[in-house]
Amino acid sequence: MADGTQNHLLFQRIDERSDEVADLTAALIRIPTINPPGDAYEPCARFLGERLAARGFTVEYLRAEGAAGDSDRYPRLNMVARIEGEGAGPCVHFNSHIDVVAPGAGWTVDPFAGAVRDGRVYGRGACDMKGGLAASIIAVEAILDQGIRFPGAIEISGTVDEESGGYAGVAWLAERGHFSPPRVDHVIIPEPLYKDAVCLGHRGVWWSEVEVRGRIAHGSMPFLGVSAIRGMGAFMAKVEDELYPRLAQRRTRMPVIPDQARQSTLNFNSLHGGLPEQGDDDGFPSALVADRCRLVLDRRYLLEESEDEVKQEVVDILDALKDEQPDFDYALRDLWSVSPTLTEPDAPVVRALDRAIEAVLGAPARHVASPGTYDQKHVARIGHLHDCVAYGPGILELAHQPDEYIDIDDMVASAKIMAAAALGLLHRSAS
Ligand SMILES: [Zn+2]
Repeated sequence: MADGTQNHLLFQRIDERSDEVADLTAALIRIPTINPPGDAYEPCARFLGERLAARGFTVEYLRAEGAAGDSDRYPRLNMVARIEGEGAGPCVHFNSHIDVVAPGAGWTVDPFAGAVRDGRVYGRGACDMKGGLAASIIAVEAILDQGIRFPGAIEISGTVDEESGGYAGVAWLAERGHFSPPRVDHVIIPEPLYKDAVCLGHRGVWWSEVEVRGRIAHGSMPFLGVSAIRGMGAFMAKVEDELYPRLAQRRTRMPVIPDQARQSTLNFNSLHGGLPEQGDDDGFPSALVADRCRLVLDRRYLLEESEDEVKQEVVDILDALKDEQPDFDYALRDLWSVSPTLTEPDAPVVRALDRAIEAVLGAPARHVASPGTYDQKHVARIGHLHDCVAYGPGILELAHQPDEYIDIDDMVASAKIMAAAALGLLHRSAS
């Protein structure tokens, strides 16, 4: 059993590695694994695999051949590393996605330089989630270097495409038994949700496309056609007046952070009507009444709502418009959806992290849920493994922002917590 003295020495060893966790994070940031399209997955997977193989892990590289996005130019290469303990026991798995979103505008530092400054590492993916990945590696390496004996096994994976749904990453691996017992018993996903918080799950998602269909005519005689853009305007006005106030009133028992995300939300992801958008040099657009207008909806829903209800309230608005306006015509197309996921607060992985957070930070752990989805859904729904949470260093609101960073001290604290939680879980059945 991992006792107090053992943990004290282990924590000391992790403290001594603050430079190493920063360097490892910076090295990962310098591999620009931008998704889409899925750049540099292979060098990133190999970089991780080679490091862990040198520490005695058995490393597998698993390419999701035939999965969406996979090609010889952009291979969807996942890395899974495993190290056996002594004798039979459970397996604790740390899963991180290696992909990052495009940097976007507004950076004051090079997003792929991995700059280390004032106790922080800067760059795209610093907090989401190469810092968490680095912390988990340092945590497990410290256990090994300290010579701590444990039953069972520890796995670390670096998987692809989380930012685009995880279908060639965790979903693909889960379909092949990589996230199910007997191979894996407990999963910790080091997404950035604060070093003192255990993230039990996430809200549901329903993406869809509304297409309003009109009738084309000369732009000088719009009365001869039916404008799809005006029809869409009417739909958006109804959503604004009727749906938004209703969504704002729904509160979930899920501990979603930030607090404004504890309700149902809807984002108009994109809108397009009429002729294709033109460049600056293309001259004037031709005079037409738009016969098509499309709107992509990004609806985040709660444990207390069902996908059918969520869809129906949009259909109801569209049908009401059809009744009011004889020319109104529409099509609604599902794009993708994910059910809400919530791990029970007394699940073993939650309790182990709670104890470790209290031991390291001296304050009780917070339980939270994520506003957006992450790979936990695949572990739960495909792997049927429900002892899975997100726990990792970093500030959630910095994800996908310019000048993204992670605090080195937070990574060090999280690495201690991950190490202590892993040992707690591994010794659980033996004690
Ligand atoms: Zn992430």
